[in-house]
Formats: sequence, C-alpha cells, structure tokens
Amino acid sequence: MMWTASLCLLGVSSILSAPVNKQRQKLLLISFDGFRWDYDRDVDTPNLDKMAKDGVKALYVTPPYLTITSPTHFTLLTGRYIENHGVIHNMWFNTTTKAKKPYYQTQFVNEWWDNGTLPIWITAQRQGLKAGSLHFPGTASSYQGQVAMVREVEPSLYNYKNETLWKKNTDKVMGWFKHEDLDFVSMYFGEPDGTGHKYGPDSPERKKMVEQVDRAVGYIRESVELHSLTDHLNIIITADHGMSTVYRNGLVEEITLNKIPGFSFSDVAFHLLDYGPSGMLLPKPDRLEKVYSALKGAHPHLHVYKKEDMPERLRFAKNDRILPIVLWADPGYVINGYFPVQFNKGEHGYDNDDMDMKPFFRAVGPAFHKNLEVGPFETVNVYPLMCHILGIQPEVNDGHLNATKHMLITSNASQGKKINLAENAFIGIAAIAGFLVVQ
Ligand SMILES: [Zn+2]
Repeated sequence: MMWTASLCLLGVSSILSAPVNKQRQKLLLISFDGFRWDYDRDVDTPNLDKMAKDGVKALYVTPPYLTITSPTHFTLLTGRYIENHGVIHNMWFNTTTKAKKPYYQTQFVNEWWDNGTLPIWITAQRQGLKAGSLHFPGTASSYQGQVAMVREVEPSLYNYKNETLWKKNTDKVMGWFKHEDLDFVSMYFGEPDGTGHKYGPDSPERKKMVEQVDRAVGYIRESVELHSLTDHLNIIITADHGMSTVYRNGLVEEITLNKIPGFSFSDVAFHLLDYGPSGMLLPKPDRLEKVYSALKGAHPHLHVYKKEDMPERLRFAKNDRILPIVLWADPGYVINGYFPVQFNKGEHGYDNDDMDMKPFFRAVGPAFHKNLEVGPFETVNVYPLMCHILGIQPEVNDGHLNATKHMLITSNASQGKKINLAENAFIGIAAIAGFLVVQ
C-alpha cells in the first residue's frame, strides 16, 4: 500500500511540477558587485548578449534600500526587505561601546547575520538539498547552527579584480556541481564595484572591467558545457546595486554635518557617517529634536528623517538596529561628518528609486524561456523564484513568485497555477490515504 502510494505520489508530482527533464534542476546564483543595469550599453558584451538570447534579460531590477553590499545581497538570499532581515549595514556596530567593524570583518560577526532570517542555503539543506557558496556576502556566518555545506570565504585583502582567480573560482564551483552534486551555489565577484568607486561609472576603466565581466560570463557558460551541466543547471546573474558619479572639486556644495549651524557632535552619542550618501545618528538623551531640527532642511540635497517618519516605500525603519535619525543624500553627493574624507568618484547607497542604483539581471538554463526580455522587478522576488526552481518550500519572505514566473517554462506557470510543496505534500497525504483520484 505505502509502496504504491509513494509511486503514485512521484508520478503526480512529476506531472504537476513539470520539470523540464527528469533530473532535479540545479541553480547557480552569481553576483557581479555594482553591475549597473545599463553597463552593457556602452561596451561590447558578446557573452552577455548571447546569454540574453539563450535565456531571459530583465530591463533592470530594483534592489532594496539601503543600496549597499551586504544588506542587498542578504535580500537576494532571503527574499526579505532589509528592515525585515536585519542586516541593515555593511558595518557591524555597537552604540554602547561605539565599536564599528568594516565590511570584511563584519562577515565574521555571526550575530549580525544570524538574527532570525534563514538564507536559502540553510533552507535548501533542511529540505534535503546540497548548497554551497563562494565569497558571497553572508557565507562566513552560521545560521541557527548551520552553515552552507561547501563554502569558501575569501582571505582578507583579496584581489577582487584578478581574472585568473575568477577562472579558478569558476572551475571550483563547477566541480562542486559536478563532483559533489550540489543543487545550489551562490558565487560572488567583487567587480565592477571597486573600479566603479575608484574611477567612476563613466570612466574607461569601468568599461574595461565590464569587458572582463563579459569574458567571465563566457568562461562560466563554456565551463557549464565542459562539465556536461547544460541540461540541468540554471544560472541567474545579477548584482546588489548600481553606481552613480559623485560631484566634487567645487562643482557642488558638499554636505558636511559639522558645518551646519545648530548641529553639534556633542549632541550625538553614536554616528555612522562618511559612508557614501547614507548616514545614521543616535542623539544623546533628550537631544533628538535639537539634532533633527538643526539638520532638517539644512542642505537642499540632504534628506533627514526620524526613523518613525521614514517614507514607507524605502522599508528601512522597522528594525531595532536602525538608529533614530536616518540621513541620505541626492545622487552626486556624499555625507561627511567633520570634514570631507571620501574621495571616490563613484558611489552607491542612494535611494533605490534612482536609476543609477538599479542592477542588471540575466538568467539562462532549462527552467527559463529563451530570448525573452522582461520588465523590471524588485530583487526580493529572486528568492521565491530560486526556491521554485529548486523545488523547495520558501521561508516567510517579502517576494512573490508572480513577479518572476513568466520567465519560467513550466506547464503550471502557463496555467497560472503554482504547485508548491504544500500542495504536493497534500497530494502525498491524499495518495497515501487513498482518496486521491488521478485523471
Ligand atoms: Zn556592492
């Protein structure tokens, strides 16, 4: 009886879930940090063009606010807005001790990452799949005691630009799929972000780096072929945020808080400033109104909000880690504390409505339509898409499969009906109980 029921369940599942081929589908999520949606418009990118022809290209995608690396990558891995997943900044900080840790060191602060929301690696593993990660933000941490089954964290002072290392890392990840039979891997490249910061998004250096990214995409796809993974490996390539040119050298009036009349650092207990166009302040007891009214309206390109008054659309308020006053600047500007200390020609961290903050999105593989261009969608929706491809039940998240399922070749999607694991489980129970009628 049980044996027959199980066979029946398998049969029903495979008909309704309609995988393109019998083997379970695998998925590689790749992020090229800071790859703006339009970076392929002024550079020859034959490999990205071919990928679009062989798969799906979105016009652009919208990252969550705050548009910086660790928070937006954790949204890709969890499908949650930043106020909900709690990785609110690249920097870990403690307002009592006033300690701060930069991006790389924060990768190793477990409690910063492991605060209630599970990344897809852990969810996949709990449901019987094998997951891995190479250099992706969040890889170093454990989550409720679990880590990605196969993982590699880059050493400190890693050279994110080295093309030879990019190839080695690609070979390594393909080996994980081929020889360790992983189902899901996330893989991170630190460019073209570094070059965009240093030289600006319109520079020849950035264009050269986009050519390197394009060669990497070609290498990755060749490597998929060489490892005979083409028929069951899907690839999603996207990024965490874009990049915008910073105005300097007397072109604009810089935003420097210490120069604002009525504002004094002696009223502030803790601050996160000099981090591109965003900032947060914790005023001393009873000084909130004083600090707020000094800053509000002080500079035409500086936005000043009490946390509880933050525009709802930014979804950057409802978390204890967010400080009582949130600041952000318009494109072209950065926020300085005592005096200008930031000299990047490109920055991100701006309003996620700004087109310069939008990343690119490409996908290819057996789950995806070919030669399909789709409109923009929010990156919270990548997570439910990935869970669907892997056939796993997602955790609670802020995304919707409806936003992305038109990219997929599935009979259930074309019928406008999603068969999820819960329904499959119901079918399973029904089959075992013997009351399911199969047509
Ligand atoms: Zn980034």
